[in-house]
Amino acid sequence: MPNDNCLAGFICPKCGYDTDLRIEVLRWVRVSDDGTEDEGGDTEWNDKSPCACGNPDCAYTATVGDFNELSIVSKTKKTDLPKLLSKLKTDAGLEALEHRLKGRAR
Ligand SMILES: [Zn+2]
Repeated sequence: MPNDNCLAGFICPKCGYDTDLRIEVLRWVRVSDDGTEDEGGDTEWNDKSPCACGNPDCAYTATVGDFNELSIVSKTKKTDLPKLLSKLKTDAGLEALEHRLKGRAR
């Protein structure tokens, strides 16, 4: 079943893994001389945040934006596009792939 919350539309561009990603996040913490204290606020990231595949056998590292299906479709060489068919999970990703594949036929 595809992700439909935090990771909707995100997969590893190398292995297709989508269970979890490792993301360097932005988070406010209280820092005193004794160390840090997490105040439980929001955890934030953006397309430029460093990101690694959660599959320990892969661990491909790039940015969050590079793990977005639409970005993967636009950056993949046309000859490698058919390999994405079995990896992409969302309708938006598959539509973008279909659009690029049709473009090749013209
Ligand atoms: Zn991976």
